[in-house]
Parts: sequence; C-alpha cells; structure tokens
Amino acid sequence: MVVLKTKAEIDKMRIACSIVREVLEKLEDFVKPGITTLDVDKFAESIINSRDAVPSFKGYRGFPASVCTSVNEVVVHGIPGDRKLNDGDIVSVDVGAFIGGFHGDAARTFAVVDISEKSERLIRVTRESFFEGIKKAVIGGRLTDISNAIQTHVEAHDYGVVRDFFGHGIGRELHEEPTIPHFGRANRGLRLRAGMVVAVEPMVTEGDYSVTTLKDGWTAVTSDGSLAAHYENTVAITSSGPEILTL
Ligand code: MG
Repeated sequence: MVVLKTKAEIDKMRIACSIVREVLEKLEDFVKPGITTLDVDKFAESIINSRDAVPSFKGYRGFPASVCTSVNEVVVHGIPGDRKLNDGDIVSVDVGAFIGGFHGDAARTFAVVDISEKSERLIRVTRESFFEGIKKAVIGGRLTDISNAIQTHVEAHDYGVVRDFFGHGIGRELHEEPTIPHFGRANRGLRLRAGMVVAVEPMVTEGDYSVTTLKDGWTAVTSDGSLAAHYENTVAITSSGPEILTL
C-alpha cells in the first residue's frame, strides 16, 4: 500500500531531508585522497548525530555502518572500511537520516580530486537521468513514466542502467511502496498522486548493467568491473509539481 503524506508530514520529512543534504554538501569538501571510506562514515555519522537524528541505514537488515560508500566499480551498498580513496577515484555515498518519525534518503557520486573526463561524464549523465525522470513525477502521470525517462537518457549516452536495485517510497519507513524501477516501458504502474514521497535513485554503469553481490552480502559491484555512479533524492509529488526535499 502506498502511504500518502499530508502537508504537515512532508514538512517533517523536510527536516530529515535537510540533514541528509547537509551531510552530502559537507562531504563535497571532506572527500579527498588518503582518507578511508570508514572516515567518510564517521564524518557523516557525526553530522547526523549532531542534529539529533539517527542514521537510517545503521543496523537496517544488519547493515554494519551509518552510510554506504561505493568506490569505482562498486555500484551500491559498499560497506565503509579501510579502503583508501585515491586521486582519480569516484565514490558514491548514500545517506539516510531519521528524525521526528520520518526518513530522508539521498546519494551522490563524488570525484576524488582529478578524475578522468570519462568518469565526469558518467557522473553527469547519472545526475541528468534523475532530473529527466523527475520531470515525469507529476500528478496524473504514471510510475513507469519516471522509469522510462531515466532509461532513455542513460541509454542515449551508451551507459547501462542497473536492473537489480530500485527506487522506493519513503516516509515513516525507509523503504515503502511503490517500488520504482529505473528502466522499463512508460505508461504503466500506478498513477501518481499528491502526497506520494519517493526516493528515485538511478545507478548507472559505464559498461554492462549486470551486477554481482560480494560475499559480505551487501557490496554490489559491476560484473564487468566497469565504473558505476549513483544519484538519488527524496522527492514529494505535490499539486505544484515535484519537490526535491534533499536539495
Ligand atoms: Mg534509497
């Protein structure tokens, strides 16, 4: 069942979402060569805690850290640890915060200083695909209009869009209905209504879109070892159009 949110509830979600945004903005300067993904985790957690919020991912289905850190060929759900970031790497950080009974969720892929033009393009197209999708997040439209717009943009740039992980509704639960594929034919699925709040999060690969989950049960890498990028925001569908709460 899709839980519609009232205006007051969306206002509460704004608080969780503003903390997620703050973390991602501060990571822009924090991410640099020589730090580990665990440093990223600790930094993010300290900001979330300083706002009296709780990291949404910590302990979620047993996830052992506060944020997900996915370097280069890691698509999503990378576990923070002793992997050092090197000049030229890209690192996707997925951040969730819970406060006042609601979650916020967003992700960005950061450049570790000087990245190649190829990597920059991958990050840019991934971000653009989110915005192409969100243009369709309007009342009366249908769920897979978003999916199709994302896939169309990604594939026009000869990249792959991941099939194994989905966007989702969000609110009192981190993952609510509906499940939102980032690919597929338009004009299917439920009709979009005011009060739906969704996390749309295309994961885009430089090569083939197939992914493999490592033995830790979390870390998802591209099967062909190619680079992957991730871009996500929490978005409220309102009578005045889509409102991105984590920007
Ligand atoms: Mg999400």
